[in-house]
Amino acid sequence: MRAIRIHEFGGPEVLKLEETQRPEPAEGQLLVRVYAAGVNPADTYVRSGNYPIKPELPFTPGTDGAGTVEMIGRGVSKYKPGDRVYIGRSVTGTYAEFALTLETQVHRLPEAVSYAQGAGVYVPYATAYYALHDRAKARGGETLLVHGASGGVGIAAVQMGRAMGMTVLGTAGSPEGFELVMREGAHHAFDHTKHGYQEAILAATGGRGVDVVLEMLANVNLAGDMKLIARDGRIVIIGSRGDVTVTPRELMSRRGSVLAFTLWGVTESEAAEIDPALAAGLENGTLRPVVGSELPLSDAAAAHRQVMAQRAYGKIVLIP
Ligand code: NAP
Repeated sequence: MRAIRIHEFGGPEVLKLEETQRPEPAEGQLLVRVYAAGVNPADTYVRSGNYPIKPELPFTPGTDGAGTVEMIGRGVSKYKPGDRVYIGRSVTGTYAEFALTLETQVHRLPEAVSYAQGAGVYVPYATAYYALHDRAKARGGETLLVHGASGGVGIAAVQMGRAMGMTVLGTAGSPEGFELVMREGAHHAFDHTKHGYQEAILAATGGRGVDVVLEMLANVNLAGDMKLIARDGRIVIIGSRGDVTVTPRELMSRRGSVLAFTLWGVTESEAAEIDPALAAGLENGTLRPVVGSELPLSDAAAAHRQVMAQRAYGKIVLIP
């Protein structure tokens, strides 16, 4: 089978398309024929070698994907060959024609959701769900700022916040992103590249501030977020790419909280709540992953450059 292999940590050029042995499912495992693999920023951090998660070399990258069950190992009872599934984590990596997974790492993909969309479910939607429900304890009627709403996690958060009855404000850095954020359910959108946009956010809340911020770039925005929250507001750090200096007094006067997490730290019992919620949302159409671009598997390096450099527009997906 064809798979992307990484033999040394480094830049996008270390992603090599190779012919490798198709794995066989052991007990409790499934072999999934991958029709689409999702590209997440974390895939690039892992590839670089400068991340707490450092797989043994060589390895195939990729956490997210979607396809059909090809074979099942002994003891697998929930799935059979031919079933449509999306993958969230795997044993062998999703940037490949086939991926080996545990039974708990696949979930049913409804007919109405394409494979490319399915490749954009797990990391973005589980992250958005956990941030909103478990960390922020967000409630209907509250105001949500999705700071970085045009990408994978942001679109998921906009759709979820809207479905929960929150007032949703989202930011993007391009006209296309801006339009996407509004189309997916934000009540107001703001351009985070424009000087003074934070004042416009405050004005949109009548000066009160927002109850919840989901922050995609904390090293740039955390200090400003502390001035945007209402009394008892919660800021949830989802993404950060550097250090930041803040004024704690801004938080103290608003009785605010800064919360943070990584999806890798979510416990099994927490995951057991997330998966059915995502399944329900995909089934009833509340959750609609947006595919921004589809690239052939051989363009994995270009996809890694794109996810880090280009203005976001939904998900980047690789097609094996
Ligand atoms: P993505 O699809 O590449 O989207 C990145 C988002 O960040 C876009 O909406 C982008 O907007 C926005 N952004 C860029 N500059 C910004 C700024 N100055 N202020 C606010 N937002 C800005 O990435 P993603 O998959 O949504 O992930 C977002 C971040 O969360 C990444 O850093 C990722 O590593 C992290 N993440 C963390 C976890 C976790 O477990 N904690 C899980 C998933 C993702 P424009 O491009 O329109 O400017």
